[in-house]
Amino acid sequence: MQPRKRFGQHFLNDASILQRIADAVALQPKHHVFEIGPGQGALTEYLHQALLARYLAVEIDRDLAPLLPARFPGIEVLQQDVLRMDLHAALADGVADPAWRVVGNLPYNISSPLIMRLLDHVLAHPGNIQDMHFMLQKEMAERLSAQPGSKAWGRLSVMTQITVHAEYLFDVPPGSFHPPPKVDSSIIRLTPRAPAALAVPRKSLDRVLRLAFAGRRKRLSNALKPLQLDWAALAVDPGKRADDVTIDEFLAIAQQSQAMLSSTDINGDAGVAH
Ligand code: SAM
Repeated sequence: MQPRKRFGQHFLNDASILQRIADAVALQPKHHVFEIGPGQGALTEYLHQALLARYLAVEIDRDLAPLLPARFPGIEVLQQDVLRMDLHAALADGVADPAWRVVGNLPYNISSPLIMRLLDHVLAHPGNIQDMHFMLQKEMAERLSAQPGSKAWGRLSVMTQITVHAEYLFDVPPGSFHPPPKVDSSIIRLTPRAPAALAVPRKSLDRVLRLAFAGRRKRLSNALKPLQLDWAALAVDPGKRADDVTIDEFLAIAQQSQAMLSSTDINGDAGVAH
């Protein structure tokens, strides 16, 4: 079957890379696996084992989806668009221990919105996903897992890393796929943070990050002026630039900005009442 460009189909055909991915995922009996975009089953072949609790896959291509159950006994295949499916309903079984292991050699044209969707799912249903291993465009993997001070560090890195730990595992050259993509690829592991660490004022953080990275060459005190922060109460150097601010520092700023906003709201309401 001809690979379909509109579904971002680049099939893995490199046994050593497939084995490295399987080793990184390290499945155990009784695990729940959710594979996104199994295609012709290249990765499925290395991951599917008899003793898994469940192997659920979502594949949009109506010609490929029906072929998988004959090759992989017990596999459940949803012929759906992963961006539109009801993730919570599909993964409800994983609320119990052990949680879902999510894997996929993702179609690059949907990887950004898909990862944002999965991060929202992690926030809304803490404990439902144990970890996620994805093949991504190298540049995207670098941005998701970037550290402060590096070129790839930005709003996407912070928004991702407040929800999951992001580990850059290894690169995969274009020649490992059929047909070869025009870009380099990389494998990344995303592991949700402990549920307690996920209680973050998201809106406030989003506003802080927009201001900070819009003025990434400015000192923080200048870039974040509209927030009227009390810098003396923050353990953050106001002379830093956004490029060097850590996740914990951004969180502290977002928390203060949220608290100040709430107190302004209360005063505002009181003003209306008088
Ligand atoms: N896992 C296979 C492999 O490694 O050879 C295929 C990987 S290929 C890069 C991406 C797969 O995702 C294709 O099989 C494609 O049909 C499927 N796909 C594309 N868009 C999708 C969507 N919105 N929902 C579900 N599957 C999708």
